[in-house]
Amino acid sequence: SLELSKKAQAVKPSSTLAITAKAKELKAQGIDVVGFGAGEPDFNTPDNICEAAIKAIHDGFTKYTDASGTLELKQAVCKKFEMFNKLSYKPNQIVISNGGKHSLTNVFEAILNPGDEVIIPAPYWLSYPEIVKLADGVPVIVKANKEQKYKITAEQIADVCTGKTKALILNTPNNPTGMIYTREELEAIAKVVVEKDIYVVADEMYENLIYGEDEQVSIASLNDEIYKRTITCSGVAKSYSMTGWRIGYTGSSAEIAKLMGSVQSHQTSNPNSIAQKAATEALNGPQDTVIAMSNEFNTRREYMVERVAAMPLIDALTPQGAFYLFVDVSKVLEKEYKGNKIATGDKLAEILISDYNIAVIPCGDFGFDDHIRLSYAISQEQIKKGLDRIEEFLKTL
Ligand code: PLP
Repeated sequence: SLELSKKAQAVKPSSTLAITAKAKELKAQGIDVVGFGAGEPDFNTPDNICEAAIKAIHDGFTKYTDASGTLELKQAVCKKFEMFNKLSYKPNQIVISNGGKHSLTNVFEAILNPGDEVIIPAPYWLSYPEIVKLADGVPVIVKANKEQKYKITAEQIADVCTGKTKALILNTPNNPTGMIYTREELEAIAKVVVEKDIYVVADEMYENLIYGEDEQVSIASLNDEIYKRTITCSGVAKSYSMTGWRIGYTGSSAEIAKLMGSVQSHQTSNPNSIAQKAATEALNGPQDTVIAMSNEFNTRREYMVERVAAMPLIDALTPQGAFYLFVDVSKVLEKEYKGNKIATGDKLAEILISDYNIAVIPCGDFGFDDHIRLSYAISQEQIKKGLDRIEEFLKTL
């Protein structure tokens, strides 16, 4: 029969991309849209990184590399893990992939058998459940409420573990909340993970974007037992404004790295050779652009927090990292707009884009329908304009 794959048909298309597409469409019509949907830094990739890529092309570094990445880049990743995350990995424990998303795909292909359960704390980055399902796993969503700063507790994890639980996904700094797990919280979580004998997939993609006094603690660095069970995932996309280059990496046991490498060798072969040279420069080269970018994000963050706190009907916890503000709009959803109850986050996003020319991300697909996500990876001028419009809208309710 011509029936198509049930698995592929069950995948939800990414709603963040849908909103971004709508905003682009309006912009193309000449409408002045403020896009709070951005999931990537609005800075150029730093010059030294671009130069390394251009040099790679001129040097003829344009052929296949080892499927799991070049030794040079793996060594740069090991050095970064050692210095920044206090994690000791050897190159045979590193897999270079085509981006953070691809790393997660590799991880679940390597560790899951059909029906294995993966604990996903909500709010979550919307791709997690879909990636798990594509690897024949079963997402188990556990809600972490605002009162607990949207962070899952060790008790909650223990409560949902069954004989089928294989892994926990832990994302810190978090998309969409901007929250960071403290050392104490991670220690309690690590204890449960070791007791239950499951894996942790630690997504630390935003590790360089932390504001204020908070520190990035990698769960794998806490002790040997948790180190063995953790696959630490990161990449250059957010830290170095390299989203289009598509380079991610993992640190794990050599056994898991080998499995991921062989999966990757058949699915994609090596990540782009030129982008690997660029990523090597990103990790080994000067880090001043990371600091400048993070300072600019911090200025915007402080402004957003202050403005939102002064608005009626909405509120948000102060994000500690990444570049998102996770806004509680539950009181807005109870209000009427043009004679109808707003009711859902999707409807609210639709009103904001259609009547106020602001693109926001409704968070139903992140497991929290009564919240929206506002990115501050856009200029201060745009942020101000967008917040003025949100305020104007709220005052009509
Ligand atoms: N993990 C999180 C939490 C993210 O927000 C993203 C990107 O939005 C990724 C991973 C994937 O990053 P990449 O662009 O390297 O695939």
